[in-house]
Amino acid sequence: MTTDYDLMIIGGGINGCGIARDAAGRGLRVALAEKDDLAQATSSSSTKLFHGGLRYLEYFEFRLVREALIERETLLRAMPHISWPMRFVLPYHEDMRFENETPTSRLMSRVMPWMKGRRPAWLIRLGLFMYDHLGGRKILPGTKTVDLKSGVEGAPLEDKFAFAYEYSDCWIEDSRLVALNARDAEARGATIHTRTEVKAAERTGDHWTVTLSGPEGQRQITARMLVNTGGPWVRQIIGEVARVNTSENIRLVRGSHIVTKRLYDHEKCYFFQGTDGRIIFAIPYETDFTLIGTTDAEHTDPSVKPECTEAERDYLLNFANGYFKQELTAEDVVWTYSGVRPLYDDGATSATAATRDYVLKVNEAGGAPMLNVFGGKITTYRRLAESALEKIAPFFDDVPGPWTAGVPLPGGNFAVDGVRAQIDALKALAPYLDDRWAKRLVRAYGTEAAEIVAGTASAENLGKDFGATLTEAEVRWLMTREYATRAADIVWRRSKLGLRMTQAEIDALDIWMQNEGASVAA
Ligand SMILES: Cc1cc2nc3c(=O)[nH]c(=O)nc-3n(C[C@H](O)[C@H](O)[C@H](O)COP(=O)(O)OP(=O)(O)OC[C@H]3O[C@@H](n4cnc5c(N)ncnc54)[C@H](O)[C@@H]3O)c2cc1C
Repeated sequence: MTTDYDLMIIGGGINGCGIARDAAGRGLRVALAEKDDLAQATSSSSTKLFHGGLRYLEYFEFRLVREALIERETLLRAMPHISWPMRFVLPYHEDMRFENETPTSRLMSRVMPWMKGRRPAWLIRLGLFMYDHLGGRKILPGTKTVDLKSGVEGAPLEDKFAFAYEYSDCWIEDSRLVALNARDAEARGATIHTRTEVKAAERTGDHWTVTLSGPEGQRQITARMLVNTGGPWVRQIIGEVARVNTSENIRLVRGSHIVTKRLYDHEKCYFFQGTDGRIIFAIPYETDFTLIGTTDAEHTDPSVKPECTEAERDYLLNFANGYFKQELTAEDVVWTYSGVRPLYDDGATSATAATRDYVLKVNEAGGAPMLNVFGGKITTYRRLAESALEKIAPFFDDVPGPWTAGVPLPGGNFAVDGVRAQIDALKALAPYLDDRWAKRLVRAYGTEAAEIVAGTASAENLGKDFGATLTEAEVRWLMTREYATRAADIVWRRSKLGLRMTQAEIDALDIWMQNEGASVAA
């Protein structure tokens, strides 16, 4: 039978959109359905790092760390607008401890029992040496030692910290990454449905009949293969949507972040180690803020919206207060967000210890195939998509090989160090933009920012002003190109302007989008 599509992808997080882009680029006929907005769940709630995962070295997750380290620079080249290098300052103090369960801590307790779970400085340096060399580096600088007594890095920290190690990783605007992958998938032939839930999928011999429920009501489509990238819902989609038996399980681990007003003057991040074996980051965020996270808490039901509990907030405040001179209180928290990690259940006892690697499983059960995706990191999404295509290709004829490495996402077609030049060019095109506004547009849209401001001589030419430099021209772009239909899609996922807009402004934007929606789409 000729089906409507080759692949029906369930879930518009980073893994679904990454696979959609890769598969569409290889000529497969792809449809993707996301029940809410793109990246509404985990993929907008991460710590937003393209990182190797320094702490995973203690769990001997060398495959994952190596793949992620190599990937950082591949991704950076393909999206220099939404990703950029960052330096991480790791202050050392002898009270820092391992998590008891790590293979490293077990080994250390055997060979150096007198350390009693403490992390020695030489071990951290060894880990950073591996971090520098496991994945190779061409763009990112390596590790160095920082004197906290004399450098700016030490200024906001308590005096007991004398030195730190400083290493590299990268920032990524997680939810923009998802939207740009979806756009590129569509440009290569995929059909992207947002606010469309996959209600049921029935295996009918060699194909699937899939029931979608979205803005146009309920309808059915057919596909040869189902790809389940439901993130926290992956298990539920297997059991309740596709009604397939499986022994595979996931573990839902909530992670929360708090945001405060900017806590220090430089652009580096901090990597803080706790006495409980966990680590947290403090990261310069959206120019005027500091992002602090994250936690590891069991979360049993994906349908319960993850929220930062008071206990998690206080844990993060206490953790940070162990490092910063400035005493932080609940009053300093201006925003929180929370997400659920859909981790593959590898039987680890603690949430912190559960593997962060991904696992792909094909279920054929005598009929049309279904690929289920468990776990994964934002950092490894492109490699995960390539691995998924390796599993998908045998079911189709003549599927070409991998192609996405280094291929720019929309707006990312400029040099890794070219952001300043892009900002200057944009200001030359639209001289009414100040540096901060131009930078925001370039960081969001890259070379495409020029299209948003094209032909405008003044800010008034950009149409209605919704506040915090969000104008009608940008909103129309996001509605027509990036699947935004509600104010929250724009102020919390396509941007973080929600941190600067009042609730009244956000409500007015929402009303405008509902009223103008049909005409904008037309
Ligand atoms: C606190 C935290 C911090 C993290 N930090 C980092 C980091 O710094 N770096 C990094 O690399 N990784 C990080 N991660 C991991 C990363 O965010 C996740 O691995 C990744 O976002 C998972 O993406 P996904 O596409 O699998 O899931 P999701 O983004 O959750 O997408 C699944 C989608 O499926 C949709 N869906 C479910 N059921 C249906 C249905 N029936 N029909 C239609 N749609 C459906 C959902 O609405 C959802 O949007 C972090 C995770 C958390 C929670």
